[in-house]
Amino acid sequence: MKLSLVAPCYNEEENVKEFCACVKECFAGKIDDYEIVFVNDGSRDKTLERLRELTKLESPAIQVVSFSRNFGKESAIYAGLTRARGDMVCVIDADLQQRPETVLEMVEILDTCPETDCVCAFQQKRKESKLLSGLKSMFYKIINKLSDVNFVNGASDFRLMRRSMVNAVLSMTEYHRFSKGIFSWVGFNTKFIPYEAAERQHGSTKWSPLKLFKYAMEGIIAFSTAPLKFVTFLGFLSTFISFVYMIITVIQKLCFSIDVPGYASIIVLLLFMSGMILFCLGIIGEYLAKMYVQLKNRPIYIEKEYLENEKKSKDE
Ligand code: UDP
Ligand code: MG
Repeated sequence: MKLSLVAPCYNEEENVKEFCACVKECFAGKIDDYEIVFVNDGSRDKTLERLRELTKLESPAIQVVSFSRNFGKESAIYAGLTRARGDMVCVIDADLQQRPETVLEMVEILDTCPETDCVCAFQQKRKESKLLSGLKSMFYKIINKLSDVNFVNGASDFRLMRRSMVNAVLSMTEYHRFSKGIFSWVGFNTKFIPYEAAERQHGSTKWSPLKLFKYAMEGIIAFSTAPLKFVTFLGFLSTFISFVYMIITVIQKLCFSIDVPGYASIIVLLLFMSGMILFCLGIIGEYLAKMYVQLKNRPIYIEKEYLENEKKSKDE
Protein backbone atom coordinates (compact mmCIF):
# COMPACT_ATOMS: atom_id res chain seq x y z
CA MET A 1 0.00 0.00 0.00
CA LYS A 2 1.40 3.38 -1.02
CA LEU A 3 -0.37 5.76 1.32
CA SER A 4 -2.34 5.72 4.57
CA LEU A 5 -4.27 8.74 5.82
CA VAL A 6 -4.66 8.77 9.59
CA ALA A 7 -7.66 10.88 10.62
CA PRO A 8 -8.52 11.31 14.33
CA CYS A 9 -12.22 12.08 14.84
CA TYR A 10 -13.92 13.41 17.92
CA ASN A 11 -17.54 14.42 17.38
CA GLU A 12 -17.16 14.83 13.64
CA GLU A 13 -20.46 13.24 12.52
CA GLU A 14 -21.04 15.90 9.88
CA ASN A 15 -17.52 15.81 8.54
CA VAL A 16 -16.37 12.20 8.11
CA LYS A 17 -18.44 11.36 5.03
CA GLU A 18 -17.57 14.62 3.35
CA PHE A 19 -13.92 14.07 4.22
CA CYS A 20 -13.96 10.63 2.61
CA ALA A 21 -15.74 11.90 -0.52
CA CYS A 22 -13.34 14.81 -0.78
CA VAL A 23 -10.28 12.56 -0.53
CA LYS A 24 -11.72 10.19 -3.12
CA GLU A 25 -12.42 12.98 -5.56
CA CYS A 26 -9.06 14.63 -5.04
CA PHE A 27 -7.02 11.41 -5.35
CA ALA A 28 -8.95 10.07 -8.39
CA GLY A 29 -6.54 9.27 -11.20
CA LYS A 30 -3.54 10.37 -9.11
CA ILE A 31 -3.21 7.86 -6.29
CA ASP A 32 -5.26 4.63 -6.20
CA ASP A 33 -3.37 2.55 -3.72
CA TYR A 34 -4.36 4.26 -0.47
CA GLU A 35 -6.41 3.76 2.66
CA ILE A 36 -8.01 5.95 5.29
CA VAL A 37 -7.57 5.00 8.94
CA PHE A 38 -10.26 6.75 10.97
CA VAL A 39 -9.79 6.79 14.72
CA ASN A 40 -13.02 7.45 16.60
CA ASP A 41 -11.77 9.05 19.79
CA GLY A 42 -14.79 8.30 21.98
CA SER A 43 -17.19 10.56 20.08
CA ARG A 44 -20.51 11.23 21.78
CA ASP A 45 -22.38 11.94 18.56
CA LYS A 46 -23.07 9.68 15.57
CA THR A 47 -19.49 9.67 14.27
CA LEU A 48 -19.13 5.89 14.77
CA GLU A 49 -22.38 5.20 12.91
CA ARG A 50 -21.23 7.37 10.03
CA LEU A 51 -17.87 5.57 9.97
CA ARG A 52 -19.63 2.20 10.02
CA GLU A 53 -21.59 3.28 6.97
CA LEU A 54 -18.38 4.28 5.26
CA THR A 55 -16.88 0.82 5.71
CA LYS A 56 -19.75 -0.53 3.60
CA LEU A 57 -18.22 1.27 0.61
CA GLU A 58 -16.05 -0.81 -1.68
CA SER A 59 -13.53 1.94 -2.05
CA PRO A 60 -11.50 3.55 -0.71
CA ALA A 61 -10.01 1.05 1.73
CA ILE A 62 -11.08 2.14 5.20
CA GLN A 63 -10.10 1.05 8.68
CA VAL A 64 -11.93 2.30 11.73
CA VAL A 65 -10.45 2.09 15.21
CA SER A 66 -12.97 3.04 17.87
CA PHE A 67 -11.83 3.91 21.39
CA SER A 68 -13.70 3.00 24.56
CA ARG A 69 -13.67 6.69 25.60
CA ASN A 70 -12.05 9.98 24.67
CA PHE A 71 -8.28 9.52 25.00
CA GLY A 72 -7.28 12.70 23.17
CA LYS A 73 -5.90 13.46 19.74
CA GLU A 74 -2.37 12.38 20.62
CA SER A 75 -3.52 8.86 21.51
CA ALA A 76 -5.70 8.78 18.40
CA ILE A 77 -2.67 9.61 16.24
CA TYR A 78 -0.70 6.80 17.89
CA ALA A 79 -3.52 4.29 17.30
CA GLY A 80 -3.86 5.37 13.68
CA LEU A 81 -0.14 5.07 13.03
CA THR A 82 -0.18 1.59 14.62
CA ARG A 83 -2.89 0.40 12.24
CA ALA A 84 -1.63 2.19 9.10
CA ARG A 85 -0.24 -0.14 6.44
CA GLY A 86 1.07 2.39 3.94
CA ASP A 87 4.69 3.01 2.95
CA MET A 88 3.87 6.66 3.52
CA VAL A 89 1.54 7.80 6.28
CA CYS A 90 -0.16 11.18 6.54
CA VAL A 91 -1.74 12.51 9.73
CA ILE A 92 -4.65 14.75 8.78
CA ASP A 93 -7.64 16.25 10.65
CA ALA A 94 -11.05 14.85 9.74
CA ASP A 95 -12.71 18.28 9.74
CA LEU A 96 -11.47 19.23 6.24
CA GLN A 97 -9.55 22.22 7.56
CA GLN A 98 -6.50 20.44 6.18
CA ARG A 99 -7.08 19.75 2.50
CA PRO A 100 -6.31 16.50 0.63
CA GLU A 101 -4.83 18.64 -2.17
CA THR A 102 -1.97 19.48 0.21
CA VAL A 103 -1.45 15.73 0.75
CA LEU A 104 -0.93 15.33 -3.01
CA GLU A 105 1.70 18.07 -2.86
CA MET A 106 3.40 16.25 0.01
CA VAL A 107 3.36 12.89 -1.78
CA GLU A 108 4.94 14.49 -4.82
CA ILE A 109 7.76 15.87 -2.70
CA LEU A 110 8.51 12.46 -1.13
CA ASP A 111 8.28 10.82 -4.56
CA THR A 112 10.78 13.21 -6.09
CA CYS A 113 13.20 13.73 -3.17
CA PRO A 114 14.47 10.39 -1.86
CA GLU A 115 16.50 12.10 0.85
CA THR A 116 13.41 13.72 2.41
CA ASP A 117 11.68 11.53 5.00
CA CYS A 118 8.87 13.79 6.08
CA VAL A 119 6.89 16.73 4.76
CA CYS A 120 5.26 18.90 7.38
CA ALA A 121 2.70 21.59 6.64
CA PHE A 122 2.79 24.75 8.67
CA GLN A 123 0.34 27.63 8.83
CA GLN A 124 1.93 30.80 7.57
CA LYS A 125 -1.10 32.90 8.39
CA ARG A 126 -3.27 31.87 11.29
CA LYS A 127 -6.95 32.69 11.11
CA GLU A 128 -7.26 33.46 14.79
CA SER A 129 -7.11 36.44 17.10
CA LYS A 130 -3.85 38.40 17.35
CA LEU A 131 -3.71 37.62 21.07
CA LEU A 132 -3.87 33.83 20.56
CA SER A 133 -1.41 34.01 17.69
CA GLY A 134 0.95 36.07 19.86
CA LEU A 135 0.64 33.64 22.77
CA LYS A 136 1.37 30.69 20.50
CA SER A 137 4.47 32.42 19.09
CA MET A 138 5.60 33.14 22.65
CA PHE A 139 5.12 29.47 23.55
CA TYR A 140 7.35 28.41 20.65
CA LYS A 141 10.03 30.92 21.69
CA ILE A 142 9.98 29.66 25.28
CA ILE A 143 9.96 25.95 24.48
CA ASN A 144 12.76 26.36 21.93
CA LYS A 145 14.88 28.10 24.57
CA LEU A 146 14.13 25.44 27.18
CA SER A 147 14.31 22.28 25.09
CA ASP A 148 17.01 20.63 23.00
CA VAL A 149 14.37 19.64 20.50
CA ASN A 150 13.55 22.19 17.82
CA PHE A 151 9.91 23.27 17.49
CA VAL A 152 8.84 25.13 14.35
CA ASN A 153 6.30 27.89 14.94
CA GLY A 154 3.01 27.01 13.26
CA ALA A 155 4.05 23.44 12.37
CA SER A 156 1.05 21.20 12.81
CA ASP A 157 0.53 17.46 13.13
CA PHE A 158 -0.46 17.62 9.46
CA ARG A 159 2.47 15.77 7.93
CA LEU A 160 3.43 12.94 5.61
CA MET A 161 6.05 10.48 6.81
CA ARG A 162 7.92 7.59 5.30
CA ARG A 163 7.56 4.18 6.93
CA SER A 164 10.97 4.40 8.63
CA MET A 165 9.92 7.55 10.46
CA VAL A 166 6.50 6.11 11.37
CA ASN A 167 8.23 3.12 12.96
CA ALA A 168 10.49 5.47 14.91
CA VAL A 169 7.47 7.42 16.21
CA LEU A 170 5.75 4.15 17.16
CA SER A 171 8.83 3.05 19.09
CA MET A 172 8.21 5.98 21.47
CA THR A 173 5.61 4.51 23.76
CA GLU A 174 5.43 7.25 26.38
CA TYR A 175 2.02 7.86 27.95
CA HIS A 176 2.09 11.66 27.91
CA ARG A 177 2.40 12.20 24.20
CA PHE A 178 3.29 15.56 22.73
CA SER A 179 3.41 14.75 19.03
CA LYS A 180 5.01 17.99 17.92
CA GLY A 181 7.97 17.12 20.13
CA ILE A 182 8.04 13.43 19.25
CA PHE A 183 8.07 14.13 15.50
CA SER A 184 10.98 16.48 16.00
CA TRP A 185 12.82 14.26 18.52
CA VAL A 186 13.01 11.24 16.21
CA GLY A 187 14.99 13.32 13.71
CA PHE A 188 14.83 12.46 9.97
CA ASN A 189 14.93 15.00 7.15
CA THR A 190 11.83 17.12 7.32
CA LYS A 191 10.72 19.59 4.70
CA PHE A 192 8.27 22.31 5.68
CA ILE A 193 5.64 23.60 3.29
CA PRO A 194 3.15 26.40 3.99
CA TYR A 195 -0.58 25.72 3.97
CA GLU A 196 -3.65 27.70 4.80
CA ALA A 197 -6.15 26.06 7.14
CA ALA A 198 -9.65 26.18 5.66
CA GLU A 199 -12.61 27.33 7.72
CA ARG A 200 -14.32 24.60 9.72
CA GLN A 201 -17.56 23.79 7.88
CA HIS A 202 -19.31 21.74 10.57
CA GLY A 203 -18.86 21.12 14.28
CA SER A 204 -16.57 23.16 16.47
CA THR A 205 -12.95 23.20 17.59
CA LYS A 206 -12.11 21.03 20.59
CA TRP A 207 -9.48 23.43 21.90
CA SER A 208 -10.57 25.83 24.61
CA PRO A 209 -8.02 28.39 25.90
CA LEU A 210 -7.61 26.32 29.10
CA LYS A 211 -7.03 23.10 27.14
CA LEU A 212 -4.44 24.90 25.00
CA PHE A 213 -2.65 26.19 28.10
CA LYS A 214 -2.56 22.71 29.64
CA TYR A 215 -1.30 21.30 26.35
CA ALA A 216 1.49 23.90 26.27
CA MET A 217 2.52 23.00 29.83
CA GLU A 218 2.49 19.28 28.95
CA GLY A 219 4.80 20.06 26.04
CA ILE A 220 7.29 21.94 28.18
CA ILE A 221 7.35 19.24 30.86
CA ALA A 222 7.58 16.41 28.32
CA PHE A 223 10.48 17.92 26.41
CA SER A 224 12.47 19.93 28.91
CA THR A 225 13.86 19.62 32.41
CA ALA A 226 14.62 23.35 32.52
CA PRO A 227 11.89 24.08 35.12
CA LEU A 228 13.69 21.69 37.50
CA LYS A 229 16.97 23.50 36.90
CA PHE A 230 15.12 26.74 37.60
CA VAL A 231 14.15 25.33 41.02
CA THR A 232 17.80 24.55 41.77
CA PHE A 233 18.76 28.05 40.66
CA LEU A 234 16.12 29.66 42.89
CA GLY A 235 17.31 27.60 45.86
CA PHE A 236 20.90 28.59 45.23
CA LEU A 237 20.02 32.27 44.82
CA SER A 238 17.96 32.50 48.01
CA THR A 239 20.65 30.67 50.01
CA PHE A 240 23.26 33.10 48.71
CA ILE A 241 21.14 36.19 49.48
CA SER A 242 20.28 34.97 52.99
CA PHE A 243 23.97 34.24 53.68
CA VAL A 244 24.98 37.77 52.69
CA TYR A 245 22.12 39.21 54.75
CA MET A 246 23.17 37.12 57.74
CA ILE A 247 26.73 38.52 57.62
CA ILE A 248 25.39 42.09 57.36
CA THR A 249 23.10 41.54 60.36
CA VAL A 250 25.88 40.04 62.51
CA ILE A 251 28.21 42.92 61.70
CA GLN A 252 25.48 45.47 62.46
CA LYS A 253 24.79 43.81 65.79
CA LEU A 254 28.38 43.14 66.93
CA CYS A 255 30.22 46.17 65.60
CA PHE A 256 27.58 48.89 65.71
CA SER A 257 25.14 47.45 68.28
CA ILE A 258 22.25 48.24 65.91
CA ASP A 259 19.10 46.35 66.84
CA VAL A 260 17.64 45.14 63.58
CA PRO A 261 13.89 45.81 63.71
CA GLY A 262 12.32 42.64 62.57
CA TYR A 263 8.60 41.93 62.65
CA ALA A 264 7.48 43.26 59.27
CA SER A 265 10.51 42.01 57.36
CA ILE A 266 10.26 38.56 58.97
CA ILE A 267 6.60 38.23 58.01
CA VAL A 268 7.27 39.37 54.43
CA LEU A 269 10.26 37.07 54.07
CA LEU A 270 8.42 34.14 55.62
CA LEU A 271 5.49 34.53 53.26
CA PHE A 272 7.76 35.06 50.27
CA MET A 273 9.94 32.06 51.05
CA SER A 274 7.04 29.71 51.79
CA GLY A 275 5.37 30.83 48.57
CA MET A 276 8.54 30.10 46.64
CA ILE A 277 8.98 26.70 48.29
CA LEU A 278 5.42 25.70 47.44
CA PHE A 279 5.89 26.93 43.88
CA CYS A 280 9.06 24.85 43.52
CA LEU A 281 7.37 21.83 45.09
CA GLY A 282 4.61 22.27 42.51
CA ILE A 283 7.11 22.14 39.65
CA ILE A 284 8.73 19.01 41.07
CA GLY A 285 5.25 17.57 41.66
CA GLU A 286 4.36 18.03 38.00
CA TYR A 287 7.29 15.86 36.97
CA LEU A 288 6.59 13.37 39.73
CA ALA A 289 2.94 13.05 38.65
CA LYS A 290 4.01 12.36 35.07
CA MET A 291 6.45 9.72 36.30
CA TYR A 292 3.77 8.17 38.51
CA VAL A 293 1.34 7.78 35.63
CA GLN A 294 4.07 6.52 33.29
CA LEU A 295 5.21 3.97 35.90
CA LYS A 296 1.75 2.45 36.03
CA ASN A 297 2.38 1.55 32.41
CA ARG A 298 -1.21 1.94 31.36
CA PRO A 299 -2.02 1.56 27.67
CA ILE A 300 -2.05 4.74 25.55
CA TYR A 301 -5.57 3.91 24.34
CA ILE A 302 -8.17 1.16 24.57
CA GLU A 303 -9.70 -0.12 21.39
CA LYS A 304 -13.36 -1.06 21.78
CA GLU A 305 -14.13 -1.87 18.20
CA TYR A 306 -12.29 -2.35 14.95
CA LEU A 307 -13.87 -2.27 11.51
CA GLU A 308 -12.73 -2.31 7.91
CA ASN A 309 -14.39 -2.58 4.50
CA GLU A 310 -16.40 -5.80 4.62
CA LYS A 311 -15.48 -7.09 1.17
CA LYS A 312 -11.81 -6.38 1.65
CA SER A 313 -11.54 -8.16 4.96
CA LYS A 314 -13.29 -11.23 3.53
CA ASP A 315 -10.80 -11.31 0.62
CA GLU A 316 -7.88 -11.46 2.97
N1 UDP B 1 -9.65 15.36 17.94
C1 UDP B 1 -9.58 14.10 18.52
N2 UDP B 1 -9.67 13.98 19.88
C2 UDP B 1 -9.81 15.06 20.70
C3 UDP B 1 -9.84 16.35 20.10
C4 UDP B 1 -9.76 16.46 18.73
O1 UDP B 1 -9.46 13.10 17.81
O2 UDP B 1 -9.89 14.88 21.92
C5 UDP B 1 -9.57 15.49 16.45
C6 UDP B 1 -10.72 16.28 15.83
O3 UDP B 1 -11.84 15.46 15.56
C7 UDP B 1 -10.09 16.80 14.56
C8 UDP B 1 -8.64 17.00 14.97
O4 UDP B 1 -8.42 16.21 16.14
O5 UDP B 1 -10.16 15.88 13.49
C9 UDP B 1 -8.32 18.46 15.24
O6 UDP B 1 -9.20 18.97 16.22
P1 UDP B 1 -9.84 20.43 16.08
O7 UDP B 1 -10.38 20.63 14.71
O8 UDP B 1 -10.78 20.59 17.22
O9 UDP B 1 -8.57 21.35 16.31
P2 UDP B 1 -8.23 22.73 15.56
O10 UDP B 1 -8.32 22.43 14.08
O11 UDP B 1 -9.26 23.68 16.00
O12 UDP B 1 -6.84 23.03 16.01
MG1 MG C 1 -9.80 21.64 13.06
